[in-house]
Amino acid sequence: MAKKFRANFFYNDHQKDDKSMQLIIKNGLLVANGQVFHGDLAANNGKICALGQDLSFLADKDTLIIDAQDQLVTPGGVDVHAHMSYFVGGCWTSDNFASGTKAALFGGTTTTMDFVETKAEESMLAALKRRREEAQAQACTDFSLHMSILPHDMERLDEIGAVIAQGCPTFKHYTAYAFTLDDGQLYRSFKEIAKHGGLPLVHAENWPFIQELIRRCASEGKLEPQNHPLCRPAWAEGEAVRRVLDIAYASGAETFLFHQSCAEDLPQIERARQRGQIVYAETCPHYTCLDSSIFTKMGPLPICSPPIREKGQQEPLAAALVSGVLDSVSSDHCPFTRAEKNRPDAFFKVPGGLSSVETRFMLTKDLPNMSLNRWVEVCCTNPARIVGLKNKGALQIGFDADIVIWSQEPYTITSDTLHEKADWSPYEGRQVSAKPETVIVRGQVLIKNGQFLGKPGCGQYQKRAVHRNI
Ligand SMILES: [Zn+2]
Repeated sequence: MAKKFRANFFYNDHQKDDKSMQLIIKNGLLVANGQVFHGDLAANNGKICALGQDLSFLADKDTLIIDAQDQLVTPGGVDVHAHMSYFVGGCWTSDNFASGTKAALFGGTTTTMDFVETKAEESMLAALKRRREEAQAQACTDFSLHMSILPHDMERLDEIGAVIAQGCPTFKHYTAYAFTLDDGQLYRSFKEIAKHGGLPLVHAENWPFIQELIRRCASEGKLEPQNHPLCRPAWAEGEAVRRVLDIAYASGAETFLFHQSCAEDLPQIERARQRGQIVYAETCPHYTCLDSSIFTKMGPLPICSPPIREKGQQEPLAAALVSGVLDSVSSDHCPFTRAEKNRPDAFFKVPGGLSSVETRFMLTKDLPNMSLNRWVEVCCTNPARIVGLKNKGALQIGFDADIVIWSQEPYTITSDTLHEKADWSPYEGRQVSAKPETVIVRGQVLIKNGQFLGKPGCGQYQKRAVHRNI
């Protein structure tokens, strides 16, 4: 995947007569065009206009000049899987769009994506409009939304074409929870989406089997958090991934698999690609950085699904990100407070999900063998390309000037210094090698010296279109 996204040019031939730039970042270590180089970046009207050496001649008295002092300069992060202002497991997520997207910015993520779910009697277009307005009132990052296909949406799959025409070409499917679609329903939905050039997204786990294991735990009084991953074995994810990919193959749909948590998924993804399927797949920081010993340390707090898995599952996922079997890293941010998570009666009553919208980008940098270029690809460029966020995710001429300047002082993650609202972090005490210092969205500095300079609602909605064989 990496090679496809490389452009081999620098824009060095700007003429002195050209209009001056509003923003120049000087002396950066830029991760751009598949390369890492010392140089400058210039932006005007919210777009990147020049990349190269010694661009000071493009400045005039009104130009904001930032000296990056040899620090890393990357595109803004793109997190295409987060849940803000979401009611699940009997609780509202502790971040709404305002606090969650602000935390994302502090973590260097400048575009976030969330989900639309229809109510029983609501059309997809009406639900999209409602959720978009809710997010627009609060969003601090640029943002977009995926549509969900719930069981009650099977009666309105004929709306899919209109939803795609409105700039929402991605549709989330579940093979778990009350949202479970059976194989025939998946096939029907995938076919309709493929007909209109959209992209199905899938949460794949074998739910009937998981339910039976949970029922057995309950009847045997095994209620501690350590039982959570035991009820969702890795093979029950690998099996579901294989089945979903077979259904996608039969339907002719491309597929974006969400939150791969185990090595069992990887041969299934490769098998599908070998027969010519277009398959994209993401993982999350909690699957590459954490193992199930965390339940001993933190009790029910880290319960999420798919679960954080046993030691030994993390390295293959990190290696698959580096090698290209996995394409991207999302947060699956779905935060709850300690009080909401601490339900001593049974692990299966704990609302599932954890915080990582702020830490995703920095944690991924430090994965084993992760080059700077690959880091930017999996956290910015690839997710933007896959879901059709045009002009996002790369330091490239003509793209939005969404930029992060990184401090390379080591930073120890603590919930006290994070901006996520949950009063705990699964990464408490973990040291990372770099942290965003200055964060810029469409040429506007929104984070500087630890201060948020924007306001809720300053994020812009992104209409999207996906293209085959990107
Ligand atoms: Zn999710």
